[in-house]
Amino acid sequence: MFIDSHCHLDHPALAARLADVLVSARAVGVERFIIPGVTPEKWSEIARLASTTEGVSAAFGLHPMFADRYDDRMLDELAGYAADARAIGEIGLDYALDEVSRNAQKTAFRGQLRLAVRMGLPVIIHCRRAFEDLMQILREEHVREVGGVMHAYSGSAEMARIFIGENLLISFSGTITYRNAVKGPLVASRVALEHLLLETDSPDLAPEPYRGKVNEPAFLLETARMVAAVKGVEVEEVARVTTSNAERLFRIG
Ligand SMILES: [Zn+2]
Repeated sequence: MFIDSHCHLDHPALAARLADVLVSARAVGVERFIIPGVTPEKWSEIARLASTTEGVSAAFGLHPMFADRYDDRMLDELAGYAADARAIGEIGLDYALDEVSRNAQKTAFRGQLRLAVRMGLPVIIHCRRAFEDLMQILREEHVREVGGVMHAYSGSAEMARIFIGENLLISFSGTITYRNAVKGPLVASRVALEHLLLETDSPDLAPEPYRGKVNEPAFLLETARMVAAVKGVEVEEVARVTTSNAERLFRIG
């Protein structure tokens, strides 16, 4: 059994054919799904999916792409949703986005981290090209107390060790299956299975041999196979350990 720790089932590309998407996923053993929130408009839809769909759990958050929209009212609304959440996310810093100021991103990130710590919820973190600033804020906000996951991890093995030291798991997406991927497989080979999660980030980041297509949770198997291959273990062991990691972090199962 696998858990897709990060899939946007509320996205129109998946929501429009959700029943089929879930059947395909369950057919290959992907039986639980965490939907992270990206914008406030989608939170009610995600809450509805989690309460009406077997195996689906919700997280709520404001993605750094929309950090300009962060304010106290939004945080209050988030706190209301968080009462029924498995995590706060996805939140973080993305310095590859030029159109959202770094200050706005830091403010939104910090405010949501404080809420997570106050409510005792783990965090789902999105980070691109901002690892130093991110680490500093994680430490200042005592995120170690609640833990979390570095989603679609793109950093080095050295940084991964530091994040693990801060009580965070490292999650790999389909990008580690790409033919030209070097860093991802190397990091996956070096991080112990006990610190890893699997995710699709569907509908984005489809793995080989589906690269370029609409991604869906069933394709998680390709990422699991790559992790098994680089670690020299059976895919069943990858399933068993990453599932128990996700169950522990999100308190499910
Ligand atoms: Zn995502």
